[in-house]
Amino acid sequence: MKVKLHGPSQRLRRTSQAFFLLASLYTGWKFVLFVHGSGGGVSRPPGVEAFLPLSGLVGLKYWAITGILNSIHPAATVLLACFLLMGLLLKRGFCSWVCPFGLLSEVLWKLGEKLFGKNFKPPAAVDAVLRSVKYLVLGLFLWDIVFRMDAGALATFIYGPYNRAADIKMLFFFERISAFSLLVILSFVLLSIPIKNFWCRYLCPYGALLGALSLLSPMKIKRNIPTCTDCKLCTMACPSYIRVHQLKTVLSDECNACYRCVAACPVPHTLELKLGRKTVSPTAYFFLILLLFFGFTAAARLAHRWENSITDKEYRYIIEHIDSPEFSHRSAGGKR
Ligand code: SF4
Ligand code: SF4
Repeated sequence: MKVKLHGPSQRLRRTSQAFFLLASLYTGWKFVLFVHGSGGGVSRPPGVEAFLPLSGLVGLKYWAITGILNSIHPAATVLLACFLLMGLLLKRGFCSWVCPFGLLSEVLWKLGEKLFGKNFKPPAAVDAVLRSVKYLVLGLFLWDIVFRMDAGALATFIYGPYNRAADIKMLFFFERISAFSLLVILSFVLLSIPIKNFWCRYLCPYGALLGALSLLSPMKIKRNIPTCTDCKLCTMACPSYIRVHQLKTVLSDECNACYRCVAACPVPHTLELKLGRKTVSPTAYFFLILLLFFGFTAAARLAHRWENSITDKEYRYIIEHIDSPEFSHRSAGGKR
């Protein structure tokens, strides 16, 4: 059953999602022009490093233990720090207010709802096993980067040729995508039509990291039991299958602060996002997201830590020699 959603929350969320989608598309388009332009004067957009989360994670640990924000992909590190803080303060709002893949997932499951009249949820046991896959993937990355690599190994990786070429490699991966990779991506897209948030719920390690951090967030969806009529509309509206109508406080790593349950609730002040005893309105939440994003990026620009130190000449060399073993993963660092 389609639940009617009231108030401004979903309009604000769509505005936020549209802004970050357009910013991502503009950044991607500028990066393509930079890589394929023949001296046309298009500069490399540093924001493209938002799509280098591993470089960001390595950079973040290096920053934490040495105090040095690396100059190879500083924007990757700054953006990851921003999104992790977002997870810590604002729950998993990154997934439902910022991430373009979250938006795509939402569009796809809504299409599935239109096509089939409903979405399909795997049986509880299968769902639980599948949900743990993203934590497994995250664990593998964290084990290698956070626990095993010391400052020397991190520096070898950061300043090595593989990481220097990471953004160019990412672009060429999509431009020259193999039939197998295309098939995998296509199957994720197709599975996301009948199954709500297939990628985000089961596979995305970024979502897993934010989900784990969100458990520490001081913001929580809270239900006022005395005024609740037990209509279950909140549970029906929740894309994460959280049984909101049975809870006093939502304590779930799958809650992405989408406000759908709040917007579905017909009784005023019965279901709200709370910070302590204060209600966090969708408008305030929207501005907090923007404040964090623009605060971090502006601080990085002011500190001259947004642009990286790789010259255009070196980029031309990387682009021309991208297939050489010099830029292969084996070159990432002798210790790895
Ligand atoms: S509990 Fe509410 S805010 Fe959290 S995911 Fe479900 S609908 Fe969205
Ligand atoms: S919290 Fe609101 S939407 Fe959920 S069961 Fe109670 S009255 Fe219904």
